[in-house]
Formats: sequence, structure tokens, C-alpha cells
Amino acid sequence: MREEKSFHMTADEFRRHGHAVIDWIADYHERIESYPVLSPVEPGEVRASLPAHPPSQAEPFSRILADIEKVVLPGTTHWQSPNFYAFFPCNASGPAILGDLLSSGLGVQGMLWATSPACTELETLVLDWLVEMLDLPEQFRSTQSGGGVIQDTASSAALCALLAARERATNFTSNRQGCDRKLVAYASSQAHSSIEKAVQIAGLGRDNLRLVEVDEKFAMRPAVLADQIESDRRAGRIPCFACATVGTTSSNAIDPVRRIGQICRERGLWLHVDAAMSGTAALCPEFRHMQDGLELADSYAFNPHKWMFTNFDCDCFWVADRATLIKTLSVLPEYLKNKATASGAVFDYRDWQIPLGRRFRSLKLWFVIRHYGIEGLQHHIRRHVELAQQFARWVSQDGRFELAAPVPLNLVCFRHRGGDQVNQALMDRLNRSGDLYLTHTRLQDQITLRFCVGQTHTEARHVRQAWQRIQEEAEALAGQGGERAG
Ligand SMILES: *Cc1c(COP(=O)(O)O)cnc(C)c1O
Repeated sequence: MREEKSFHMTADEFRRHGHAVIDWIADYHERIESYPVLSPVEPGEVRASLPAHPPSQAEPFSRILADIEKVVLPGTTHWQSPNFYAFFPCNASGPAILGDLLSSGLGVQGMLWATSPACTELETLVLDWLVEMLDLPEQFRSTQSGGGVIQDTASSAALCALLAARERATNFTSNRQGCDRKLVAYASSQAHSSIEKAVQIAGLGRDNLRLVEVDEKFAMRPAVLADQIESDRRAGRIPCFACATVGTTSSNAIDPVRRIGQICRERGLWLHVDAAMSGTAALCPEFRHMQDGLELADSYAFNPHKWMFTNFDCDCFWVADRATLIKTLSVLPEYLKNKATASGAVFDYRDWQIPLGRRFRSLKLWFVIRHYGIEGLQHHIRRHVELAQQFARWVSQDGRFELAAPVPLNLVCFRHRGGDQVNQALMDRLNRSGDLYLTHTRLQDQITLRFCVGQTHTEARHVRQAWQRIQEEAEALAGQGGERAG
């Protein structure tokens, strides 16, 4: 018999190329510091260096991999560089990458328990482990009324929370009849833009999002929230949802969860707590004060893909009452019906998220937790916080600079006293040098530089060198300013 013609990669080829790819990744991580952190390419440059049309004939794998080196690498901003301090971290680690690879290797689509029991049960277990590891309230456990699920991002988690809040407030009629224009949501003026996006998508409309004023530490003023809710009530509106942020994106401000929670409980609002980056710090008991009052929350989310060494994408989302979430998101067509679902004895995670399909994402998280152990994770989180605190001390000891916000954890907001132009120029020079990458925000209506420590391999020497580079560029700018003036 003649063998069927095939273009597929054979098992032997896969093994050979697979080893080459793993080697490439290991080498990349070893040499990552030799690249400019922020990619210097111009818009269109990456595309222009690649063929405009797809190949009609098969290409050897070695040629494909060579283009990673030649074309992709120069157009890459190196998020995994220890000199990356921009935005927030998106840190990865060996065990997470390997767990992710296994997820691809198994190629499972875990929409239902029945489509791969291990995919669902491992996820439920790992999220219960995390309740214990982060000392989250008991009601978030799957063995209680709640449970956890992995979402792609904190944005999706916030949207799911808002949808459940919307249904709870309208006795599950919005799903059928469309959204009542009277529904109102609340978050601080410093909340992440994903809340605004969720309000748009969920049909509440942006005009029905109240951005509550913050105090001098950029944390929500609970009294203002209570007043807003009351005045909306009096106007005949239906306040249904509030988001408290533990560690805002802009300045790492921590909203008073307990006070906000009490207000939401008294008035029947759904409280969602967004701790996208900072939630990881709760691995260490000494940082758990920031989530005081979390037992008053209806839902909670944090991103292991930011600061917990688990490569993108991985957001952990818990609800205190899973029945409400499931009732909100469940639609059961004939072709998905099966015995396990009908028995009610299993979780079908498609009912806990927006899409139907889902990857086996708990593998990478499980690998990370088992590789590091709680002790290892605590060690590295504490180290990052120490390094950021050290950096903050250096800033405050240099008369040319000032701190722009409190530094509760791993984010330092600071600025040169020379004003917006100087700070902008300073940031541009540093980022252009390729030695490090940091970004800015606006606080007290002034450009403020953000220095966020959270990369897997960032050590004391990197932070020391970053501060040195910042001082050097400030010096150079002062020299230039002098020339111009003279
Ligand atoms: C980063 C961040 C988000 C958005 O994260 P995604 O997972 O990318 O959606 C939401 N909230 C806060 C506080 C963040 O820092």
C-alpha cells in the first residue's frame, strides 16, 4: 500500500525542532540584557521586511526560526528584560512556559467538564489553593457558595462581574429584555479603563458610570461614594455595581475595601475588587492589610500574568455566589447537552466566562505554584518590594527629584522637580538609550514617571544601574539647559 501524501510535521521532526525552540528560548533569556528594552523600530518596519504574500510552497523549519531572530527580535520590546520597569510587569518563568507548552501539546478545549475533566478540575483546585495562599475569604472557595475561574484578563473578569451585578439588580430580566438605562455603576476616578469599557459593553452606557473622587493618596473617598449612590437613588436610578481597586494602575493607590464594602452591602450593590497587579503581594502576610474587608466583596480578580511569574494570559476571578454568575452567563443549546452537565455535579466553565472555548490555562499556574512553592513565591515578591522601596529612598534623597505618591508595594511614582518638559525629555532619553524602559502617568496634573519592579530576573544590580542612568540623564539635561540659557 502506498502511504498517503502528507505535509504534517512528523513526531521525529517535532522532537528535533522542539529541542531547537527550547534552546532558542533559553538562549534568548540568557542574552536578553544585550538588547534595547524598548524596540527601536519605526511603524511599518517589521512588516516591510517580510514577504508581502504567503508561501505557496512549504518552507524548512530552520528558515522560519531564523526569521524570529532576524525580523521578530528587533521588533520586540523585551518585556522579560530585567530592565523593564514600564506599565506593569508581565513576568514569565521557566515552569510557566513549560506548563503553557504542555497545554498546547495536549491541545484541549475545556469548555465543558466533559470535554476534559482534568482541565476543569485542576483549575478549580488551583483556584482553591490560591484562596488559601492569598488568605482570601472562605466564600470564594468552590467547596462553599463561590468558586474561582481563570479568565484571559482582568478586563474580562470585570465585565463578567458587571453582567452578574446587572442581572442580580434586575432579577435576571436584562438578559432577556435588554439593559435598563437606570442602572448605575461606580468606580474611583483612578480605576482602570477596563471598568469604563465593561460599562459600555454591558449596555449600562458610559453616562451611567460615576467616577468617584479620590483623596490625597489617590484612593476612593467612601463618603463621596455613599453620597453619589444616595443622589442617584433619589433621582430614580438603580445603583448596581461598584469596583474598588487594590493597587491602581496609575499610582498603586489602595481603595478602602472595608468601607466601600459596607456601603455596598447596606445598599445592595455588587462589589467587585480589582487587584490586577497588587493582588500577588497577598502571598506575603505582611501585605494582606490592603485587602482588609474583602469578605464584603461579591467578586475579586488578580492577574498571575502580571506579577506572579505566570506568562500571559492568566487572570484569576472569584465570585462569592457562583449561582448568580452561572445564571447570568449560561445558555444551553442542544449540541452541548451531556450527562455530566445534567447531573449538576460538575462545573462547566463556559458558564463562567464570555467565550465558549477555553485553553488548559491552569497547567502553567499549577507548575508555577509547585516549582516555587509558597516560600519561593514569597521570597521573590518580598525582594521586588524591597528593591522598589530602596529606589524610592534614593529618589527622596536626591534634591532634584520628588516622590509623587505613596509607595505601598513595588511601584514608585516620582518626578524631576524641573517640570513636565524635563520629565518628558528625561523619559525619552532613557527609553531611547535602550538601557531601561519606564513609562509615565499624570498625577496632581503633572507628568510623573512610573518605575515598576516586577520582572522575574530583576535584581539589586539592575535597579541600582537604573537609578544611576536616571541621574546621569538628569545631569546631561541640566547641562543642555545651561547651554541654552547661556
Ligand atoms: C493591568 C490592570 C488591569 C487590566 O488588566 P488586563 O488583564 O490586561 O485586562 C485592570 N485593572 C488594574 C488595576 C490593572 O493594573
